[in-house]
Amino acid sequence: MLTLERYSIGIGDRFGREGEAQLAAFVKARAAGMVITPVWNKSNREHTIVGTHPDSVRAEAEAAVRALGWHHAYQVDADHIGPKTVDTFIRASDFFTIDVADYIGQPAAADAVQHFVAQQRGLAGRRQIADVAQPFDLTLADLERIARKYLLAVQEAGQVYRQIAAAKGADAFITEVSLDETDAPQTPVELLVILAALAAVGVPVQTIAPKFSGRFNKGVDYVGNLIQFEREFSDDLAVVAFAMTEFGLPASLKLSVHSGSDKFSLYPIIRRQLQHTGAGIHLKTAGTTWLEEVAGLALAGGDALRLAQAMYADMHARRAELSRPYATVIDIDPGRLPSPAEVAEWSGANFAAALRHDQKNPRFNPHFRQLIHVGFKIAAERGSDYRAALDTNRAVIAALVTDNLFTKHIQPLFMPED
Ligand SMILES: [Zn+2]
Repeated sequence: MLTLERYSIGIGDRFGREGEAQLAAFVKARAAGMVITPVWNKSNREHTIVGTHPDSVRAEAEAAVRALGWHHAYQVDADHIGPKTVDTFIRASDFFTIDVADYIGQPAAADAVQHFVAQQRGLAGRRQIADVAQPFDLTLADLERIARKYLLAVQEAGQVYRQIAAAKGADAFITEVSLDETDAPQTPVELLVILAALAAVGVPVQTIAPKFSGRFNKGVDYVGNLIQFEREFSDDLAVVAFAMTEFGLPASLKLSVHSGSDKFSLYPIIRRQLQHTGAGIHLKTAGTTWLEEVAGLALAGGDALRLAQAMYADMHARRAELSRPYATVIDIDPGRLPSPAEVAEWSGANFAAALRHDQKNPRFNPHFRQLIHVGFKIAAERGSDYRAALDTNRAVIAALVTDNLFTKHIQPLFMPED
């Protein structure tokens, strides 16, 4: 079976131009002794908005790997797919994120729930899992309640998994199951039951993306209780380690954190927990690279800055439409957005300072950043004009893309302090 390495980062690239600049960050980490697997991820939603086909992501990844002579593993992730969207990804992808969040809370057939509860009754009772602070108390009634909430979602994951395996061969891909795009977080006990159910329906899951407590807004920092997050994350790690041996899931099984990018306040916590447990992690980012493209255009000045300012004016005018698909994962206060007229007066340095995620910079504006994060449709509509501007300003943009991934993500999460 194709196996995911211990440490991996999902990198999104909306316009497919930054593969080399992204991979350069992993080359830098490798030079410092840290091998991290790059996973190029792009969802059906992104492909639809930008107007690209999944094959383009494979081509981008392979070109970057060739250009930089990368000899380690890399993957191409069909991000957040389901039965209706998986087909176009089959050829290009060797990593599939099966999103079953929409099925959470819809009950499975009553006899299936009863069968599952009978089969898993051994899970009931009081259980002390190593490294979990409190013992789990799971009654048969809890088991049934959790099964009613999640079994249909797990069965759906099984269907999609078999659909991919039939088309590609079961050994040719990595399976992730995602539950994150929902309102209520899963508790560690629920995660335990979900993993038992995935094993029971025969899904060799290698990464699982639960919904954690707190808000994971797009492109900005975590909003929530850090102490509570650390307890939950550490319990989830312990549950994953337990489930792997207890249910015979792949030894590469690990948590996937769908970060929405830039959860900087969580990185020290995740890093500490990984060091403590020896666990692996898949950190999924998306959009942070596109924001560096816009910052690069602004810093390049001249026509490039005017393009960034004009795109912002369009995003500001169409903010309701652009925000709609992302309503649950952004918090934009329209009153805190600068007006297009004001932005049109900004220097490139001021534009970039408002956009780039540096919480110490008084000019940084998280509302501005979130709107541009979800505003990539505007760049897509400009088509060849936008792509030509990327090409003209390649050097400044590539340096920002590499530095962002390396300095803000890879280093704080994985690299020893110097
Ligand atoms: Zn996600």
